[in-house]
Amino acid sequence: MTTTATRAGGATPAFPPIWLRDNCPCERCRDPRNGQKLFGITDLPADLTVRDTEATADTITVTFGPDGHRGVFSRAWLEAHLSTSDGDGRTEAAKQLWQARDLEGRLPAADWAAYRDDPAERARVLRAVRDLGFAVLHGTPTEEETVLAIARTFGYPRETNYGTLFDVRVEANPGNLAFTGMRIAPHTDNPYRDPVPTLQLLHCLANAAEGGDSGLVDGFTAASLLRADDEAAFRILTTTLVPFAWSDASTSLRADRPLIDVDPAGHLREVRFNNRSMQALRLDPAATTAFYAAYRRFAEIIARPELLLTFRLEPGDCLVFDNTRLLHARTAFAESGARHLQGCYADLDALASALRTLEETA
Ligand SMILES: [Zn+2]
Repeated sequence: MTTTATRAGGATPAFPPIWLRDNCPCERCRDPRNGQKLFGITDLPADLTVRDTEATADTITVTFGPDGHRGVFSRAWLEAHLSTSDGDGRTEAAKQLWQARDLEGRLPAADWAAYRDDPAERARVLRAVRDLGFAVLHGTPTEEETVLAIARTFGYPRETNYGTLFDVRVEANPGNLAFTGMRIAPHTDNPYRDPVPTLQLLHCLANAAEGGDSGLVDGFTAASLLRADDEAAFRILTTTLVPFAWSDASTSLRADRPLIDVDPAGHLREVRFNNRSMQALRLDPAATTAFYAAYRRFAEIIARPELLLTFRLEPGDCLVFDNTRLLHARTAFAESGARHLQGCYADLDALASALRTLEETA
């Protein structure tokens, strides 16, 4: 038996009794102080029915069988749940995919003081990170550790074996190519972690070197182009677990994940792309050959000039970007020139939470 919440003049969609009961808003079902459910699924009768419904202009009261339990539902709430969900905002379904020409000369950016002091401006910046994958703050203090203070405006720095922050500058004995003046091709960071850091911040303290410009590629755009061009290659990259690893004397990190992660509906959710830390695959020869062909096709798309958005970080600029979606890059620079960035990792869930809170109180 099903019940109906009628839409004026519309169809009469059915809510199954178990769904209604699981969402019953009464005080015995939900703690009114926090809205949390007070029961588990096996506490509900297996043979639930809707015995009766009574409608008013604003509510529908449901009486359940076999136990006679009653719950009063808001019609507005029921109607808001008629359509399928657009999800939690993490997949391509909620994103604005871009190529370089879409954003050249109009990067999503804000002045630090306005961001710090104006909730509407802060919401605009956080929305850009959510929807476009990044934003730039100008005019932040050029003092060390400022990057951590910026991360704390919307979330929490994620401490790793690199510390709570890392310095990106030329080192005499570099443990990572980032700490040289070499060109760094577009990549995502730390694919050898599970979970991967979902956000990265890069704060520029000095950039007097010739070169050393920054670049971003929308990995979702690249993956969607691959899907359109070569669906078989796309499928290989969504289904092949690729081993990534990083180690030094005190650390040995490893995660096996696909280069392109999709949700059960097939929507792009995460991209990993970092040849520096990819380890030897252990697949049968045919699968290995097919993987490499697909990987090359994806890499060729990522390398298309029209996908690479380039810009220069000046002292006081802080780039905040989605490390599960955007690939970042750097042009080569003279190691004699002063270039110093400080970076940290943080996470998208806290940023999305900060944004929702700002939007709900606006
Ligand atoms: Zn109830």
